[in-house]
Amino acid sequence: MIALLFFLQTAAATVAAPIPTFIVVRDGGAIASVPVTIDGGLPSVRADALMRAMRGGILITSTNLHYTLSLPRARLDLIDGIPFAKRDTLTIPLTRAPQVRGGQLYLPFQFVTDVIPRYVGGYVYDAALSELRTGTAVASRPAGPIQSASSTPLGTATSASTVASRAVTRQPVYTRPPVRQLVVIDAGHGGPDRGMTGPIGSPAWFVEKDVTLSVATKLATVLRARGADVLMTRTTDTLIALADRGKIANSNRGDVFISIHVNAPGYNSAAAAREHGFETYFLAEAKTEDERRVQDMENESVKFETGANAQKGDPLNFIITDMAQNEHLRESSDLALTIQNGLIDVHPGPNRGVQQANFAVLRGSYMPAVLVEIGFGSNQSEATYLSDQDNQRALARNIAQSVLDYLAHYQSRVGGTR
Ligand SMILES: [Zn+2]
Repeated sequence: MIALLFFLQTAAATVAAPIPTFIVVRDGGAIASVPVTIDGGLPSVRADALMRAMRGGILITSTNLHYTLSLPRARLDLIDGIPFAKRDTLTIPLTRAPQVRGGQLYLPFQFVTDVIPRYVGGYVYDAALSELRTGTAVASRPAGPIQSASSTPLGTATSASTVASRAVTRQPVYTRPPVRQLVVIDAGHGGPDRGMTGPIGSPAWFVEKDVTLSVATKLATVLRARGADVLMTRTTDTLIALADRGKIANSNRGDVFISIHVNAPGYNSAAAAREHGFETYFLAEAKTEDERRVQDMENESVKFETGANAQKGDPLNFIITDMAQNEHLRESSDLALTIQNGLIDVHPGPNRGVQQANFAVLRGSYMPAVLVEIGFGSNQSEATYLSDQDNQRALARNIAQSVLDYLAHYQSRVGGTR
C-alpha cells in the first residue's frame, strides 16, 4: 500500500534519521547544496535555494501570501501559513505550513523527503546521503491499464520500488485493530433516490442505490470479520437525508466515514458511454469542472428529501461544521489516497485519482470522511463488472484492507509518533 509506505519512509527520514544541516540536490550533472535551517526544533529549507538547485523558480502569484513553485515537471501552489500545497487540482497535506520569515519563504523539510519525490516526480530522496536527486525509478513504472490516461494526480507518485513492494505492504498491518474502531459505511442513495441508472445506450438495468448497498454490506461483513465495529447508515432500500448520514456517524462517534457511490458522466453520448474507472473523493471545495459535476450529481439527492429528513439551512451550523471538518482534511485526504491506491490492485481501472469536492454527505461528518466512486454504471462493461458479486466482494475486501491500514497508521500517529 503506497501511502503507508511513503509515510513510513517519511517517518523514518524525519524521526529516525538525524536532520542534516544541508542536503545535496543532484539534478542530472548539476550539483547544489541547500542549507537546512532549524526553527523551533523543526527543519525547513528556503524555497528560493531549493528551487535554484532544482532549476525551478518561485512566482508570487498575488500581492498577498500566495506562492507558486515552478518546476520543469510540475507547479506547486502554496499559501503562507496554510498547511496544504496544491498541484493542479490535488490538495497535498503538509506536516506544517510554509512560512515567510525575513522576506523568505521557508518550506517544511517534508518537501524534500516526501512532497517533491511524491508529487513532482522524477526525484528520489536518499535519507542516508541526505541527497535529493533526479531518479530514473519514477520513469520506469510500467505503463498499464491502472494508469490514468489523463489527469491522474497519483501517476507520478509511484516508483518502481513501491510497485515491487506493494505485495508486501498490502499485507495486513494488524490482524485486528488494536482498540475499538468504528467504521461508518454509507451506501449512497436509497428509496426514491435511485442514484444513477445505466448503462448508456441500453434499458436501465443498473441502479446505483442497489449496487452501493450490496458493496457496502460486503464491506461491513469483511470489516466485522477483521475485528472492526461497523455502523451502516442504511441496511435496506430507504432514503436517508444527506445531512442525517453525517449525523448518524457523529452521534455514534465514528472513526472514519466511507460513502460508496457509482459514477456517471454528466452527458449522454458515445464518448460519455466510454467513461470508466474509479476515483476517491475527500471533502474540499470542488475545483475542476469534472469534480463539480460529480459533486452536483451526488448532492442531487437533497431534492428527494422532504419534511422530517430535509436539511434546515442554518448558516451558523454550516460554519461550525466547516471548521470541524477542516481539522480532518488532512486525514480525509490520507484516507482517500490509501483507498484509491489500494483499489489499483483489484479494479480494472483506470485509476482516475484522488479528487476533492464539497459533498453534502461528507460535510456533516466530524471525522475523516471519503466518498468512493467505484466505477461508472453508465459504461456497459463496467456496469457488468460492478454488478458481479465476486467483483463486489473483491472491491469490498480491498477497501476494507485500506481502511484497516489507514486506521492502524492513523492510530500510531495519534499515539505521538508525529
Ligand atoms: Zn451516487
